[in-house]
Amino acid sequence: MSAFFIEGRDFELFVDAVIGARRVVGPVAKRTKFVYAELESAEELRLDFDVTILPPKKVFFPPSQDLVRFSDGVVGGCIDPVETVLLGVHFYDVKGIDMTDFLFRERNEDWNYLAQREATTIVASSIQSISPRAFWSSVGAEVEPQGHDAFLTKVNGGYLFETRTPKGEALLGYGSFREATDAEVGAAALANAAAMKQCPERLDYPSEAIAEKVRDSFGDVAMWDELAKDCFSCGSCNTVCPTCYCFDVRDAWNLDQASGTRTRYWDACLTREFATVTMAGGGTENFREHHSARFRHRFMRKAAYLNEKLGGPACTGCGRCSQACTADIADPVRVITHIMEVSS
Ligand code: SF4
Ligand code: SF4
Repeated sequence: MSAFFIEGRDFELFVDAVIGARRVVGPVAKRTKFVYAELESAEELRLDFDVTILPPKKVFFPPSQDLVRFSDGVVGGCIDPVETVLLGVHFYDVKGIDMTDFLFRERNEDWNYLAQREATTIVASSIQSISPRAFWSSVGAEVEPQGHDAFLTKVNGGYLFETRTPKGEALLGYGSFREATDAEVGAAALANAAAMKQCPERLDYPSEAIAEKVRDSFGDVAMWDELAKDCFSCGSCNTVCPTCYCFDVRDAWNLDQASGTRTRYWDACLTREFATVTMAGGGTENFREHHSARFRHRFMRKAAYLNEKLGGPACTGCGRCSQACTADIADPVRVITHIMEVSS
């Protein structure tokens, strides 16, 4: 890893030069919130974002994605990666991408995800504004973010640009970078440490203890019914989550009835129909019929079931679910703290 510095006045020129050469996706303002979008100019980039509505996984795993097209018995894939720079990803979302990288590689490699992932250079960025429901400083601290190619930290007078991979180094050619001084490297470390101290919410228990207690709470039906009583099964807590990766696959036929497209769509385990399966004889069965069973399932997945595979919880502490839940019952800090304190 090497550290470079770019003056503030040169930074926009750098971003515009990258935009001239590749597709660049970064955080931009959308009314009072932020979203990841393709940049047309450096002016749109908002590295002072607190959190985006949807996580950056949508670059590799979009909400709807064509998988195959078929016509008269001939089937063709739709994989068509675009060389992309994803510029401005907070460390907790890098951790989310690390998890989806693992999950889409596990067993059957999913090239509908991996092709775009491999065509993308990720530039992580320091946290300049803090989301009000974030708890990234206290969840899964044992898991380091790994999937980024460079890390950008705002410091006095400009940005420190730390490269981690050859893909990150390749970006140096687009801007007026020089080697960073020890003072600039130190200033960046202080800025990143200061951000960690400002995180507003906190989980005060280690991941292993949480996993054990959450798993043990499975049979406490009364507690889960109470925690989930205001849930109206909208699925928003799934939709905004960087580590949710379930999808549904549907075929759409064209009017000629000989050609069409197979497409996958994000799915959400909190919705009523998610666990409905077809039975013999044309009937159906919903194996998580009650909303409290679905609510519980989400916490089992995030805090216990996936821990062994991922080396820590399947939650990055982004706080998006807390903000997205109209009933304000999805906050992992509140639910897990309740389980740790109350569940027997
Ligand atoms: S469960 Fe909530 S806080 Fe955790 S990663 Fe998903 S959206 Fe973020
Ligand atoms: S917990 Fe909240 S966001 Fe999630 S499905 Fe229920 S009401 Fe919707």
